[in-house]
Amino acid sequence: MAKKQEKTLEDLFEDGLKDVYFAEKKILQALKKMAKAAESEESVTAFENHYAETEIQIDRLEQVFELLEQKPKGKNCPAILGIIEEGEEIMKEYKGSSALDAGLIAAAQAVEHYEITRYGALKAWAKELGMKEAVKLLDETLSEEIKTDKLLTTMAEGQANQRAEAA
Ligand code: FE
Ligand code: FE
Ligand code: FE
Repeated sequence: MAKKQEKTLEDLFEDGLKDVYFAEKKILQALKKMAKAAESEESVTAFENHYAETEIQIDRLEQVFELLEQKPKGKNCPAILGIIEEGEEIMKEYKGSSALDAGLIAAAQAVEHYEITRYGALKAWAKELGMKEAVKLLDETLSEEIKTDKLLTTMAEGQANQRAEAA
């Protein structure tokens, strides 16, 4: 029996890249739906802006694939499918309710947190592998995900304050 080939950090990096490439494409679709579903103008704008950023993030991932001399390819990511499914539940179950946007913001933050863990690992591995250009590209996206997460926190707190005032 042939010995199973030893997996390397490079394999891990490539698999991770495919995972997040798959995830970003799903996120793009989800953001479109969320922008449509959201009640407040603030939420709509936030989702639309991150949609535009996500398009650029997909482009950056394609550049990283190019650095590896590989065709961009996705690999099924069950985590993002589950996170998005939860967001869709919120859209359905809270449609027309005053708690809808709070739910959507929290769902969006779950997405950002997943992305932050993935890009954080990929950036560290790219560094380890001496892929300077990839580190730069991954770091740009990581910064955007962190910035988006912070914005969502601010929005959630703002809405909570508004509700408290209204009560
Ligand atoms: Fe993203
Ligand atoms: Fe995944
Ligand atoms: Fe994101």
